[in-house]
This record gives sequence, structure tokens and C-alpha cells, in this order.
Amino acid sequence: MVNWRRLLRMSNRSFLAFIFFFSMSTTCLYFIYVAPGIANTYFFMVQAQGIMLRDNVRTIGQMIRLYTNKNSTVNGTDYPDGSNSSEYLVQPTTYLPENFTYAQNLPCPERLPSMKGLLDVNMTEIPMEEIELKFSKFFDIEFGGHWKPKDCRPRWKVAILIPFRNRHEHLPILFQHLIPMLQRQRLQFAFYVIEQSGSQPFNRAMLFNVGFLEAMKDLNWDCLIFHDVDHIPENDRNYYGCGQMPRHFAAKLDKYMYILPYSEFFGGVSGLTVEQFRKINGFPNAFWGWGGEDDDLWNRVHYAGLNVTRPEGEIGKYKSIPHHHRGEVQFLGRYKLLRYSKERQHLDGLNNLHYSPHISLSNLYKNITVDLYPELAPIRDY
Ligand code: UDP
Ligand code: MN
Repeated sequence: MVNWRRLLRMSNRSFLAFIFFFSMSTTCLYFIYVAPGIANTYFFMVQAQGIMLRDNVRTIGQMIRLYTNKNSTVNGTDYPDGSNSSEYLVQPTTYLPENFTYAQNLPCPERLPSMKGLLDVNMTEIPMEEIELKFSKFFDIEFGGHWKPKDCRPRWKVAILIPFRNRHEHLPILFQHLIPMLQRQRLQFAFYVIEQSGSQPFNRAMLFNVGFLEAMKDLNWDCLIFHDVDHIPENDRNYYGCGQMPRHFAAKLDKYMYILPYSEFFGGVSGLTVEQFRKINGFPNAFWGWGGEDDDLWNRVHYAGLNVTRPEGEIGKYKSIPHHHRGEVQFLGRYKLLRYSKERQHLDGLNNLHYSPHISLSNLYKNITVDLYPELAPIRDY
């Protein structure tokens, strides 16, 4: 038998040290691969602490400057250089008074008196049957999850698309918070849960494409919300209508210490008009496993000459339901694909997608189950 230690001319101690560090690093890499969410959260925590520290230093620096230079004033337009903290930019907002009267033939306003601000978020698990009963009986939700306001004309017809596999305990928690919020915002809406079957890695982006094509068969929706099942909005002034530009709703997540992890972040909850979504050829279909598809969407939006807007200050706060990554893996090929976002944009997306869905209706949503595999979205060389 080969004696590796002799062969490498190592002492006993350094050989053991080598074995120790080798196994430590492979364990770490394996952990990052199989538990991408945890590794990622930890990485952002470290980053966030850096940002907070920098912000504090900047604020202290500013105060010193203010005290030492009596001629300068910090007024409403004098924002600290390069700060990405949107608190500095919060504009005073006016919401309509309680006694505002609605008119059936007029569009519902965007800043309604019913939108109060911060909400109580309760993430305790609750049976779906209980939520179904509550909302179909007392909140007027039609079978299949449709609702529209009766006292004014809804400004947006919004399809809420939720990518899904094996997170059954999250769905009722999400509905419990979203339905009352959307009703207070006087939006017309319906929920689509797009569930991946089969054994391929999860493909969040492809599910959204399927959800979009299926939803458009139901109704002429004009606004699409791409909503992770585990993201619970904390503020009912986070208006789920669309706009001139694509919108990133989930700007501040509790798990990232309410700091935007990076300025191109477009994950969690985002919204585009049907027109904007068609213009960018939808989501890419080629991202199998965790990560990257939201960054590709960001690239698509920018290559199409669009920009992303975000809610200001406290409005964009979300809580995420803690979860384990059950057998999901990172998509390691994402970095390469992201380098070619521009070239792939018109080759991969809504225009090369084939699928056969199984559709079923339940009280609060339409379920679209699809088996996904790479051959369903063939792509030409680029
Ligand atoms: N998702 C799912 N089942 C999975 C993986 C993902 O339903 O096995 C959906 C779910 O809507 C989830 C979203 O895809 O909120 C994003 O995935 P995940 O929560 O794993 O990402 P992370 O929170 O780690 O960024
Ligand atoms: Mn999650």
C-alpha cells in the first residue's frame, strides 16, 4: 500500500493538520451547496453589519461637519453623498381622509384611508381549511380566489403568481395577510399557485412563465405580482399595483436586517405590467436550482431600457417565514448564464416555452401543476 505521508515527506502532525483542514473546507463547501439560503443569509448579515457601520460613521461625520461649519445647513434636499438608505428620501405622503366617499364609476384611489401602515404579522401555522372558510364566507372571495371592489373601479387587475413546491404550511399564512391588504387597497386580484412536480431542481423562473401564460387565459390581467410564498408584507401601504416601471416590492427583509442586500437585488416580491413582462420576454427558463433568476430578470429589465422602482422607507418591509431548504441545491451555472443575459434575453423566456399543466381550482386559488425539465425550453446557440 502507498504510504502517502512518506511520499509527501510530511511529519505526522502536519499530515493530521492537512487532513483536518481538508475535511473542514469540503464540509463548508458542501454546506453552502446544500443550504444556500442559510449561507446566503449569513453572508448578507455580515455585509449588512458593514453597511450599518459605514452609515453610522457617515452620520457622525456629518454631525461633526455640521457643528464645525456654522454656515452650512442640512436641509431637505441635502442628502449625504452616495447613501443608498431610502429613509433620507422619504417624502411626506398624504392618504385620503376617513370620510372619503367612493364612486362606482370612478377609479379607486391609490392612497386610501383604509391603508393604515404597519401591520401585525402573525406567522403561526394555521390550517388551510380555516383560512378558506374565513375568506370565502366573510371576505367575499370567489371560488378560485377572485375578488374585485364594488364601491369603485379597480385601478389594476392584478394576478398574484406564487411559485410552489412542498411549502404547504406557508400558503395559509400568506393568504391570511395578503387578502385583507389587497382588499384595503381596492385592487382586483386572483391567486395562482404554480406547483412544480417531478424530480428536477426547482425552477422558480420557469414556474412564473407558466403562471403568466395560464393566468392570461382567464382574464385580461394588466399587472403581475411575482410573489415568494414565504414573504409577508409588513405594511399595507405597499401598494400592489403596477406602474410606469417594474417594481421591486420586497426592498427590506427582516432576514437581511431590513437592508437591501445589493442595489440590483430583485428577489422576493416584484411586479411588472403585462406589457413590460412581454417586452422582456418573461423570466429565463434556464435557471435550475436556487439563485440567479432574479438577477437575470433585473438584467432583462435594464436591457429593455426600463428601471426598477421601490417603496420608500418603512413601506417596503417584509417578514420571511423561516424555513429549511429541503433537498434544494444551488444553481452553480448561474454566474455563466448571467454573463450572457443580453444574448439570451430574446432566445429564452416566454417565446421558447412548452408545457402541459394540470389545473385545479380551490377556494382561494387556482393550482397549476407542471412537471418541468430542460427540454421544455430549447435554446439556440448564442
Ligand atoms: N419554493 C418552493 N419550494 C421549494 C423552493 C422554493 O415553494 O422547494 C418557492 C417558494 O415560493 C419560495 C421561493 O420559491 O418562497 C424562493 O425559494 P426559497 O424560499 O428557497 O429562497 P430563499 O428564501 O432561500 O431566498
Ligand atoms: Mn425563502
